Amino acid sequence: MRIADMTWQEYDDEIGRRIVVLPIGSIDGHGPHLPLSADTIISDHLARQLEERLDVLVLPPLTYGLATDPAASGGRFPGVTNVRAATFTNLVLDVLRASYRHGARRFVLLDSHKVNLGALREAAELFADTAPQARIMAVTWWDVVTEESRNAIAAETGVARHDDHHAAMVETSLVMHAAPHLVREELLADDEIPRRARYFVLPVPQDLRTKTGVVYRAAAASPAIGARLMTEIVTNLVAAVARELGESPQEVLP
Ligand SMILES: [Zn+2]
Repeated sequence: MRIADMTWQEYDDEIGRRIVVLPIGSIDGHGPHLPLSADTIISDHLARQLEERLDVLVLPPLTYGLATDPAASGGRFPGVTNVRAATFTNLVLDVLRASYRHGARRFVLLDSHKVNLGALREAAELFADTAPQARIMAVTWWDVVTEESRNAIAAETGVARHDDHHAAMVETSLVMHAAPHLVREELLADDEIPRRARYFVLPVPQDLRTKTGVVYRAAAASPAIGARLMTEIVTNLVAAVARELGESPQEVLP
């Protein structure tokens, strides 16, 4: 059930019984072929799958997040909208605390944007300190993809895992599956970068930037890869949530 579609009375009847899921994304450049909201699309798609399989309430998605480091996203592109870590942490914390006050006790922070993770963990820690009855998990889709299947896809497509990061083959395939109408397939292409570095440097040197924001190979993406990965992600995500938070609705607390 989607909290935004419920009345306050319907919400009041359900909030104490169910797991609450907060889908989280970003507004971030994802190459010439994916929309700025690619991360939110993936998180929201996964939240819908959880909704079909577990007794969850889904909060409205958090569509803003922290901006990716320019070096990790191949440059800084128009549209990238950074929410500062303190703002983001406080926003997540306020949402969690409101749900807890209303009766929720089990929470999933469902993220698809790596850069959010540190702030999400901090929000979860701060929340847990003041919510003694709460159980909370923060999870991303790549947490539940097995090494074997990432390696198998790399072998089949010829795209090495070190060439498959932001807006590249796997992420593009997931959006192709979740929101095919938003993918500009005619613009799908690999990118090249003169140099790679793991450290952070500003301003980003010219030879650490891509032209498109694809880091670095997207051309081999396909809806079939997206469907296959999504099936694995959903199965493993449902199992992880059920394991950590319990499957069945809990008794409403007095
Ligand atoms: Zn992304």
